[in-house]
Amino acid sequence: MSSKAYDASKVIAPGGTIGVLGGGQLGRMLALAGRAMGYRFVTLDPTPDSPCGQVADRQITAAYHDVDAARQLADLADVITYEFENVDADVTKLLMSESYVPQGSQLLYTTQHRLREKRAIEAAGVKVAPYAEIGSAEELRAAVERFGTPCVLKTATGGYDGKGQWVIRSLDEVPEAYETLSRAKTELVLEQFIHFDKEISVIAARSPRGEVKAFPVAENVHVNNILHLSIVPARAADAVLAEAERMAVRIAEELDVIGLIAVEMFLTKDGELYVNELAPRPHNSGHYTMEACKTSQFEQHVRAICNLPLGDPALLTPVVMVNVLGEHVEPLLEWIVKTESETAVEGVTAKVHLYGKAEAKTGRKMGHVNLLTGSAETAMRWITASNIWETKNR
Ligand code: AMP
Repeated sequence: MSSKAYDASKVIAPGGTIGVLGGGQLGRMLALAGRAMGYRFVTLDPTPDSPCGQVADRQITAAYHDVDAARQLADLADVITYEFENVDADVTKLLMSESYVPQGSQLLYTTQHRLREKRAIEAAGVKVAPYAEIGSAEELRAAVERFGTPCVLKTATGGYDGKGQWVIRSLDEVPEAYETLSRAKTELVLEQFIHFDKEISVIAARSPRGEVKAFPVAENVHVNNILHLSIVPARAADAVLAEAERMAVRIAEELDVIGLIAVEMFLTKDGELYVNELAPRPHNSGHYTMEACKTSQFEQHVRAICNLPLGDPALLTPVVMVNVLGEHVEPLLEWIVKTESETAVEGVTAKVHLYGKAEAKTGRKMGHVNLLTGSAETAMRWITASNIWETKNR
């Protein structure tokens, strides 16, 4: 008997019910794509009327670690997926024994922990930034001396959007950096600082029948550690883009991925690529695919977990995706009611997506705009002319 969580011959046909652990925007866009294909959706999320719950057939309102609620999800769904990676281990175990979770638990276990993730990427034959496991302030000092400054100390679990990180700029910072991050009660990892030219990402999909396809490479610009723009095609040499796609495909195959895997990388001036992080789910840097590719990342994820043939990920048009955070909602809503003659920038079509979140807190991801455009420069002109991101673009 195979120890795999998936069955290469099992297909979940349209009409079946997809259960989504997590009711945020990723689940919402997954449900919108999957419902168009004829699937039904049930989501589990603690917030009533969650972004996904608003568009799903049904929401179970309960904590993510609530095992009884997970059992209810398992009863209702023919296949289960998740939209965040910190899924509780007991819940995963229950879902796997009582329902069908083709993505399994191994990839979650790997990507929930930076050290395990780095080892798995290296085992797949792909490069990561040089790193060291840190168990004490003395080990940290020795590693900082070895790597030189700056270097980056990170917690192995729980960090996101730059949280749980300390950029060490001199040896003097070692005691405080160690003391602060070790409060997180998880292993620590020190990484050499990569003086990257660009941050890029590739999303690949793999299905139980063994098909693998990668989406075009996105060039990502962060502001305050939060993704601001994805520019596609990424502005890099064709050979580099092809290599980045190959790396993502290799990771998808070697890590036995089912569904999507987002691979974030650093690209140096010399064309070197280092993988920084993996996310086993739809990813913010793949939102551009919704209008700009023949198949969106969300449709592709549904196809992959249901074991349908994968769709063509080819790019239809250059695109820039810009995130809408809490502070951008008001100006966006003022912009959206204006006529074309008041707002048009020639050669740009703006497609607005909003996630249905009640509270527009600063820094919270509320939506995004896909700018279908002839060039990244034209999209930048649109962004400036709209005035929506005026404080973020300087
Ligand atoms: P992460 O949480 O690992 O995605 O890191 C957040 C951001 O910090 C990345 O998007 C980079 O901009 C920066 N960063 C993280 N690790 C490194 C590194 N080893 N070298 C340079 N920059 C880094």
